[in-house]
Amino acid sequence: MNLKELKQEVNNIVLDGGAKLVGVGRRERLKDAPPSGDMEYCLPDAQSCIIWAYPNPIEALENYFSKKERMSIKKFQHFAYKSAWDTGLKLKEFIEENSIYKAFVVIPNGKYRKAGGYTNFMKVDQAYPRFSLRYGGVAAGLGHLGWSGNLVTKEFGGSIYLGGILTTAPLEPDPMAKENYCNNCKICWQSCTTGYFEKDLEEAQQEVIIGGKREVYAKRGTYSKCGNGCAGLSGLSEDGKWTTWTADHICLKEYANEEWEANPSLKRELIRKVIVDKNTPKKIRNFNKKILKSYAGVGTTENVALRPLEDTNPRCGNCNFICVADLKKRVELLKLLKTSGKVFLDENGREYVKKLKKDGEEIIYYPPTEEEFFNTNSN
Ligand code: SF4
Ligand code: SF4
Repeated sequence: MNLKELKQEVNNIVLDGGAKLVGVGRRERLKDAPPSGDMEYCLPDAQSCIIWAYPNPIEALENYFSKKERMSIKKFQHFAYKSAWDTGLKLKEFIEENSIYKAFVVIPNGKYRKAGGYTNFMKVDQAYPRFSLRYGGVAAGLGHLGWSGNLVTKEFGGSIYLGGILTTAPLEPDPMAKENYCNNCKICWQSCTTGYFEKDLEEAQQEVIIGGKREVYAKRGTYSKCGNGCAGLSGLSEDGKWTTWTADHICLKEYANEEWEANPSLKRELIRKVIVDKNTPKKIRNFNKKILKSYAGVGTTENVALRPLEDTNPRCGNCNFICVADLKKRVELLKLLKTSGKVFLDENGREYVKKLKKDGEEIIYYPPTEEEFFNTNSN
């Protein structure tokens, strides 16, 4: 099989596995990127990366941001990570059986260069993947980094999951994306309750140059700020009117990133408060212990694609989810989020939502539990 046929077969396998975008990038394009762009860290003599994407379904996003239900996004996230990994394994087998080349499957999330980078999210200040799928995505022509730091594509914005492999096959690269489809709307920043990335300051710590072009994105704080917001240990908006999918009504945007970084006792105090402090209701402490247990599970495998559905519980991810390609829809999703109310736990530890209707009337409802949702949507 020649290289042209190999590339065609690879693309077919990726798209048959449910991905909607795929591209090929060459090593030369990543020569000036930070260390996570170094393909040879994972695979000696790697020449190309093949990167693909699964966009979040719009209806699932509407339900997630309005707090109608969070199970559709849970289901899709589980599908996307699992498919990214399974497709990678299929490609590796295909390439190595049908050519002289080697391949390496990139873990879609959960594996960092620093040991324990995923589960140690309260301790580690920075954590870098072995190979960055986002950098690979830029090199493969899928898009460019947006303000949030996520890969933003023309077709689906940044509301995507990425999969990828590296290979020693010198495949024909796809053209780099000409434009950056991030329009600096900063809706990603507005949807974040932790302030992990800055609204107006650019990241200057390390330059990201891919294909000779500099990628511009927001200055980041410490990893732990996003880590605990993303996990659901905090998630209250600055105005106190809405939460992420968490009953932990704590807003980390109140702490400047410099303060959070310089004062490790803030992190310790947060964990003490949400897990140990008897002033925090027991039902919330139990909810938080479950969150940490799920994280620990991924820490054991260091591969989020192996996480079971029951432990897949996105509670934030807002900066990524909200960045759909259509700006009008992005604005709409932000509006849904801002009027979505807050999540609470009842005495049995079940999640419910309290929000105000347009006329000021308060409404309370129970979104479907995992059992209810999957029993009635048994597909
Ligand atoms: S939400 Fe707006 S500013 Fe943020 S990455 Fe997407 S397009 Fe860029
Ligand atoms: S995942 Fe959530 S907490 Fe983390 S940066 Fe994005 S919006 Fe902020």
